[in-house]
Amino acid sequence: MSTTIEIKDLEKKRIQLIKELLNSRLIIPGSFNEVYRKCGKQNCWCHDKAGHLLRRITWSENGHSKTKAIPEKDIVWIKKATGNYREFRKKRKEIQKLDKSFKELLDAYEKETIKKSRQLRDYL
Ligand SMILES: [Zn+2]
Repeated sequence: MSTTIEIKDLEKKRIQLIKELLNSRLIIPGSFNEVYRKCGKQNCWCHDKAGHLLRRITWSENGHSKTKAIPEKDIVWIKKATGNYREFRKKRKEIQKLDKSFKELLDAYEKETIKKSRQLRDYL
């Protein structure tokens, strides 16, 4: 494939990825999980059992781990939102990869074109 075609092909992929990114309306960082925790009260039912069910998301912010409890009514919603966020980040990584390829291809194109241009004059 010629450099020009490759560059145009990357451009199309990039436009599509940007379009998909800008269509993301619901993204929340974090991973959803369910854990059982004892509350620590001596007379609570959980004292001899696994503990209370805790539904939560955890994520990292400025190097700190954060956790938020999720109400039962929002479990489907939060799974969707955190899944969307993962997709969003994946697409951003793909764009970064494309940009790296762009740079390499543009460098190659520049080199090829200078070479061809110089061949047009015997003194260059
Ligand atoms: Zn308890």
